[in-house]
Amino acid sequence: MMTIRGTGIGESAAIGRLFWLAPVREGGAAVPVGSPAEEEARFLAAADAAQKELRALYEESRTTVGEEAAQIFAVHAMIAADEDFTELVLARIGTGESAENAVIEAAQTLAERFRAMDDEYLRARAGDFTDIAARLCDQLTGRESVRDLPDNSDPIIIAAHDLTPSQTVGLDRKRIAGFVTAAGSPGSHTAILARSMNLPALVGMGANDVLSVLDGRQVMLDAAAGELIVDPDSIKIAECRARMQAEQEAARVRSALRDLPAETCSGRRIRLGANIGLPREAAEAAALGADGVGLMRSEFLYLGAKQPPGEEEQLAAYRAAAEALGNQPLIIRTLDIGADKQVDYLNLAKEENPALGLRAIRLCLCGDRALFRTQLRAICRAAGERAAAGAAGQIAVMFPMITSPHELDDALDELYAVQAALDREGREIDPDLSVGMMIEIPAAALMAEQFAPKCAFFSVGSNDLTQYTLAVDRQNAAVAPLAAGAHPAVLSLIARTARAIHAEGGWCGLCGELAADPSMTQTLLDLGIDEFSVSPAHLLKIKEKIRSCT
Ligand code: PEP
Ligand code: MG
Repeated sequence: MMTIRGTGIGESAAIGRLFWLAPVREGGAAVPVGSPAEEEARFLAAADAAQKELRALYEESRTTVGEEAAQIFAVHAMIAADEDFTELVLARIGTGESAENAVIEAAQTLAERFRAMDDEYLRARAGDFTDIAARLCDQLTGRESVRDLPDNSDPIIIAAHDLTPSQTVGLDRKRIAGFVTAAGSPGSHTAILARSMNLPALVGMGANDVLSVLDGRQVMLDAAAGELIVDPDSIKIAECRARMQAEQEAARVRSALRDLPAETCSGRRIRLGANIGLPREAAEAAALGADGVGLMRSEFLYLGAKQPPGEEEQLAAYRAAAEALGNQPLIIRTLDIGADKQVDYLNLAKEENPALGLRAIRLCLCGDRALFRTQLRAICRAAGERAAAGAAGQIAVMFPMITSPHELDDALDELYAVQAALDREGREIDPDLSVGMMIEIPAAALMAEQFAPKCAFFSVGSNDLTQYTLAVDRQNAAVAPLAAGAHPAVLSLIARTARAIHAEGGWCGLCGELAADPSMTQTLLDLGIDEFSVSPAHLLKIKEKIRSCT
């Protein structure tokens, strides 16, 4: 037996024959096949064919894997038709590049832009560009992307250097029991998909050469342990089968939790909300029985756009998310963008230490406040509409990265001024609009008593609170093991935060990744957390845990 370690996605296990998926999508014609005009025509034809193929895949996969996962193909079709992308490719072809190289380089440029972003979700979107480039190269060269699976009924564990999101969603779930990749990270779109498809996986194994020579060997993939065991003995196999059976039973029990409340054994009702980026994810959260949305990362509406989304566009997005939730709460976090999240239209200066720089509320309150006011108007209008429709208090607003009381006062002044202006304009406003702030900076936790009287709730952003308390850059893989949200210093700041808001009659939420760690649920409840907000994939697991806590 040999064991190779990686980062586990999901908690299940699988046994099967390893199938090495050779990286046939790499490279392309190194030299142009024709003149720049001919290369341009080749590219445009390939882009057109790729769009058609992607639209067909979208329609087909809606019925097989569901709307949420199928959206990947719709997004990829948009990227294939994107003007910026096309311009970049054509500019490179103009300098004498082959269409293949131009596509790969343009995708790399855009992928790097996304990779430099602060937000894990957006960083993981970088893979979408690689995926599109691979598809376009396939069109240009006419290659098949995947060699055929062996012709027998054994379960298969795919091994690859990396898998693109569309390869992942296209995996035949009946034949493929899991996958392992040498590259990849737990926050990538591929990993997100694997979770939503319930496919156990190991990523970041860093063992390309080893994986390739294991083709055809029997392997056991243990996502919970982060291990790939090659040639497992009969004891290991029996253990694994027993676990898989237990997991199937646990998943069956969990799906029945969908309509049950997140309530502890001792009868304490905890709110279990979802973290979302785009409005369409609200419907998924609702379908999984979430108690609304505890964190809508509104910056997703801004990133990838050519200009800041206007009031009407944002209003439509917030309205759609709120309506998809019925009357359940929708907590919209105001823009959390910074100099490290590259949004060309904001012309932000490059900073030495962007995590300590002009980010989130600091950016909103500095200089020209038009950006902030537009967003507040859209949020307040959406809340007013919902109030008029009988859902007063459904929409809440929260401010990120507040450090000092004057920042909260300033943000509140802007919010109330916007409410007053809307009222004067004769528009509906929500008299019950609830306002809170994120606790992400130790200074805010230490001064929570000063913030609490002005807030209906706090939501602890444990990702940043951990980063700033422990001096551990959340983007730096080398120090990732030090970023323990369970550190006593972080926990004591959380306890203090909850105490302060409870003393004023408010509630305390937690929307960082710590909320999705079931081994922490009881401790967090004991520290006074009233609401957990987690990505939709973690909802039922945490609900189950809450229901076993006291
Ligand atoms: C956090 O910091 O924990 C948080 C939820 O915000 P983000 O991850 O978007 O910075
Ligand atoms: Mg944060």
